[in-house]
Amino acid sequence: MQLEEPVIRPITQSRIDQVDFENLEFGKYISDHMLVCDYNNKAWQTPKIVPFADMSMSPAMLALHYGQSVFEGLKAFRMGEEQICIFRPDKHYERLNRSLARMCMPAMPEELFINGLKQLIKLDEEWVPHGEGTALYIRPIVFASEARFGVKVSDEYRFIIFTGPTGKMFQRALRVKVETHYSRAARGGTGAAKCAGNYGGAFLPTLKAREEGYDQVLWTDANEHIHIEESGMMNAMFVLDGVLVTPPLSDSILNGVTRDALLTLARDLGIPAEERPVSIQELQGCFRNNTITEAFGAGTAAVVSPIEAISINGVDHYLPSYNKNSIMFRLQQELESIRAGKTPDRHNWIVLV
Ligand SMILES: *Cc1c(COP(=O)(O)O)cnc(C)c1O
Repeated sequence: MQLEEPVIRPITQSRIDQVDFENLEFGKYISDHMLVCDYNNKAWQTPKIVPFADMSMSPAMLALHYGQSVFEGLKAFRMGEEQICIFRPDKHYERLNRSLARMCMPAMPEELFINGLKQLIKLDEEWVPHGEGTALYIRPIVFASEARFGVKVSDEYRFIIFTGPTGKMFQRALRVKVETHYSRAARGGTGAAKCAGNYGGAFLPTLKAREEGYDQVLWTDANEHIHIEESGMMNAMFVLDGVLVTPPLSDSILNGVTRDALLTLARDLGIPAEERPVSIQELQGCFRNNTITEAFGAGTAAVVSPIEAISINGVDHYLPSYNKNSIMFRLQQELESIRAGKTPDRHNWIVLV
């Protein structure tokens, strides 16, 4: 299939002067343009880049009723003053297609995603912030757009990419609660897809954990609630006896791009790393022998989110305090150094816009 170049209808008046670049709250500002591409008659149509704006929809739009809606989250950065790069768009593209397949939604050609992304960012170049630790957050989303209320797989979809500048994520260490009642994802379910419904279902257990004084839950397997799966909306990582350990991918764990990058960098830096099941019992034992030295979440938004306390069956277990030599911060540093162009991009993670 030959996809055409996006048709561009630029803004007449930029909104960029409304942005406080010194104070970039996550999710607050949206850049001038968005990419929109519709799927109908069994084909992706010509993409358009248009001013970001509200859109109209039918109350019968299928995504609202039956949940065919998936998304991605990735970032673009400044590399020096001249260049803008996107971090591993190919990996996000592959994951988007896996999410689409799980939700019976049509696959997307790579060119539509990657080329669309580049063109959009090029047009909104000024929105990529300059400050240290800042980035342009990129949100691709695909949803069922057909208006029809019978239960069915939609025949029409809309793909949108919009972006927004974000600041340095505040890294307050998290208090997390091991969740043994609710589940995020079950074997055979949609946990490995980045679909909207996974988030909707996670809000209630998370709000309950908040009421109990925790920031996030540490999800456990839905079958027996014995093994750790993920931390909130991030992959869970631990340092046990000097080894970086993270649960293995399964259909109930999201294949995080950050998770993959940190595992790769650990191997590069000579830090032993293992993907293997981690049980609650093992964690309890590690707290008893003081062999757990780090626990953190891994995800695009903050790269690493340190955990200071883990509640297991109502008992709070505290991690030792962290410093810049902690494995998580060494990995974060290495990743940020590659993104900034200061360390060679030996795994071809950087795509220039
Ligand atoms: C997006 C997401 C992550 C993190 O993935 P990254 O690609 O590293 O941003 C982890 N867990 C869940 C459930 C997610 O939705």
